[in-house]
Amino acid sequence: MILKKLKNDVLMPYVGLGVYKMTNSKETVHAVTEAIKVGYRAVDTASYYENEEEVGEAIRLSGIPRKELFITTKVWNDEQGYDETLRACERSLRQLGVDYIDLYLIHWPVPGKFIDTYRAIERLYEEKLIRAPGVSNHNKKHLLQLENKVNIMPMVNQVECHPYLQQDDLINFCTEREMAVTAWAPLGKGMVLQDELIKELAQKYHKTPAQIILRWHLQRETIIIPKSVTPSRILENFDLFDFTMEKKDMDRISRLERNGRIGIDPDTDEF
Ligand code: NAD
Repeated sequence: MILKKLKNDVLMPYVGLGVYKMTNSKETVHAVTEAIKVGYRAVDTASYYENEEEVGEAIRLSGIPRKELFITTKVWNDEQGYDETLRACERSLRQLGVDYIDLYLIHWPVPGKFIDTYRAIERLYEEKLIRAPGVSNHNKKHLLQLENKVNIMPMVNQVECHPYLQQDDLINFCTEREMAVTAWAPLGKGMVLQDELIKELAQKYHKTPAQIILRWHLQRETIIIPKSVTPSRILENFDLFDFTMEKKDMDRISRLERNGRIGIDPDTDEF
């Protein structure tokens, strides 16, 4: 298991299972169970995904000690504000059935609210209900606003990132502040798997297209949370540590950048 050391020395696995759109209870418990069985120790959920209970159930069924697992969850847009966030975290703890959350994120920087939301997250951190404070979908302008107003900067920023939207500027900005970056939609929601270059490199390294893309993220030191409910893919997405891509191939993938955002843009779109 390869771990990223966050700014406060908490260790976060580089590979976790994303569980967005896992809405079928049995399927979710099964996917998380499978993931833990093949070695995953991190799960990325959110109150918005409405599957925290199932994630908690799978974790308990696994028999793996709680301290060996890393659970990320997020405060949704309509739960934001100071008091509301304290209550949202309480709900997430209850749904997950755990005493603490490893990483708690603001899901989106809701205008007029995200600073107060983050202040509540700082308090949750001081009270040791969460092991690390973080954010998601925060661009530079949101991080700069936080920098002026909070005591402890987020330790992680989770943003859309894949070969078609590489986020180099934002990643550099975060790295300068010792903020780790997690890529959501690391496979571009599956879209990048069809890319001709990715397929060519898969042949060259005797790996699958998904493994090529995920390995590219890891070699850039980005944390990844690919989503799948299929056991063979869950395994494939974790089997990334027995090969290294040459620099020239890393560079070729870097040239696939095309500002190909799939989700909404936190700078300009409403959410
Ligand atoms: P993803 O890039 O992980 O792609 C998932 C798609 O790829 C699924 O359709 C899946 O069937 C397919 N897939 C996965 N592994 C495969 C493989 N080995 N071979 C072929 N196809 C494969 O996209 P995602 O689910 O949107 O993102 C991953 C996680 O990121 C989510 O589950 C969630 O936890 C998180 N997320 C966070 C935000 C946010 O706003 N913070 C937004 C979206 C997603």
